[in-house]
Amino acid sequence: MNELSPANAPKTSVSISETASSEIKPGRDTRAGGSTVRSICVYCGSGVGTNPAYVEAARTLGASLAESGIALVYGGGGLGLMGEVARATLAAGGAVTGIIPSFLSSREHMLREVTDLIVTENMHQRKQLMYEKSDAFVALPGGIGTLEELVEQLTWSQLGRHTKPIVVANIEGFWTPFLSLLDHMRREAFIRNGLEVRFGVVERAGEIIPRIEALADEAGGAGDPSRLSKL
Ligand code: AMP
Repeated sequence: MNELSPANAPKTSVSISETASSEIKPGRDTRAGGSTVRSICVYCGSGVGTNPAYVEAARTLGASLAESGIALVYGGGGLGLMGEVARATLAAGGAVTGIIPSFLSSREHMLREVTDLIVTENMHQRKQLMYEKSDAFVALPGGIGTLEELVEQLTWSQLGRHTKPIVVANIEGFWTPFLSLLDHMRREAFIRNGLEVRFGVVERAGEIIPRIEALADEAGGAGDPSRLSKL
């Protein structure tokens, strides 16, 4: 299967035109009762990496999301850590929204068993929808795609376009070289007053949701998503 046609598209698939516009719409009220965070976007590798701790972390996070009643938003693939976190969330009774561009549906083994499957026309729509549908972001270990998505959220936050929590899951020190690079940028005064990069770092998967909820409380909610359209 390459491109999705109406005949072979999964029942849950909807086209981008039905779900998103070029303008980001105001988000739902995430402050109403209980946790302020209803959905978390997980960025992670389409591979599993070499350390079994990465898969373990993805599975732990998936189960924790389901137990917390927080929906998973992710890139829609069935491979690597992406597939692991999605299947673990579903297995524990959680809700999963997969958002994948049509050109990757075959290559990344699009997971059809998800609660809500959205096939977009391109990468930009995928990333915008992942942003819109999420109250917070977490980066598990991953490759260039994961890095790009994490850095994009950090830059939007740095520029004051949103205040949604961002957590780096530094499983077995995976992100330490990246954190060192940010420290280097601070020392060299490229990250300076007024351009602070705000995010949390945790070492274990079990700490991700509590840290996100703490950051959401500090920020006073998930911010104003409509600001992003002014980027
Ligand atoms: P990776 O971390 O490279 O294994 O990629 C993880 C996910 O990020 C995959 O679903 C990729 O399709 C996606 N991805 C790759 N490149 C980009 C990009 N430039 N922007 C957003 N997502 C990307």
